[in-house]
Amino acid sequence: MKVGFIGLGNMGGPMAANLAAAGHEIAGFDLAAPAPDGVSMAVSAAAAATGADVVITMLPNGAILRAVAADIIPAMKSGAVFLDCSTVDVDSARAVAGLSVKAGLQAVDAPVSGGITGAAAGTLTFMAGGADAAFAAVSDLLDVMGQKAVHCGGSGAGQSAKICNNMILGVTMAATCEAFALADKLGLDRQKMFDVVSTSSGYSWSMNAYCPAPGIGPQSPADNGYQPGFASELMLKDLRLSQQAAEAVNADTPMGARATALYADFVESEDGQGQDFSALLPRFEKRDRS
Ligand code: NAD
Repeated sequence: MKVGFIGLGNMGGPMAANLAAAGHEIAGFDLAAPAPDGVSMAVSAAAAATGADVVITMLPNGAILRAVAADIIPAMKSGAVFLDCSTVDVDSARAVAGLSVKAGLQAVDAPVSGGITGAAAGTLTFMAGGADAAFAAVSDLLDVMGQKAVHCGGSGAGQSAKICNNMILGVTMAATCEAFALADKLGLDRQKMFDVVSTSSGYSWSMNAYCPAPGIGPQSPADNGYQPGFASELMLKDLRLSQQAAEAVNADTPMGARATALYADFVESEDGQGQDFSALLPRFEKRDRS
């Protein structure tokens, strides 16, 4: 396929390289990032989008997505698919899809989980929103960039699934970290704590697959000085998107709100910026109840 790819940063770069390696013809554009392997760079976002069967965006936030969409939608050929893989607010995803459809295009929002390693290995999980035909039109591309794609519903359903998932992740990671710090103070050995919880009703991805305690459980950023992994500021971004969405639909999300406030303190008033989101454990270790 002829693909335009806009936003070639930590995630978009390797995703575009994987598509090129699979034989797709990729015209890329980024304000700063270098050309990934196999990608020919265009002079503008609109130039990358011109003539493409599918245009993929992998951008930092909803405001930038809306600006890029305004630029490229008029340049895209009729029937082409606008495939946004960024993590953005549900309103922006729906607005961009609406504009695309109005212009005679198809639209899919398909944020990802799996991080930079998943992007490089082609093992991302996509959660997609959009019409059946639009999802079908991009499924070959999703198969190259990822190992799984779940069609969650209409426009915005992909972003909705992503922020609900990450709200659960933020809450369970915070709970797992505070439980380890409590166990320390109770004199409970961390390995024993892991052995029990990872096979009991407190188990979760945060404990079992991404244990925040160094030297315990599978390899994780805790074993690498809490270098991300998934940076705390990205978790804060996703938690804020969950609270923005919750406000918009008047949903009561007290645990999500508490996790958002906790990560906001950690990133903006403490030393969390640039550390993995599991670095809440050393934060709790240093604190007392007051
Ligand atoms: P990044 O900052 O590395 O890449 C974003 C790229 O967009 C940059 O190269 C930037 O130059 C480019 N860009 C910004 N404005 C532009 C414009 N107007 N035109 C063209 N290019 C523009 O970020 P990333 O880590 O690749 O994340 C991209 C998206 O993926 C975000 O929405 C993020 O939340 C999401 N995400 C990231 C991860 C992760 O682990 N990094 C995991 C899942 C989802």
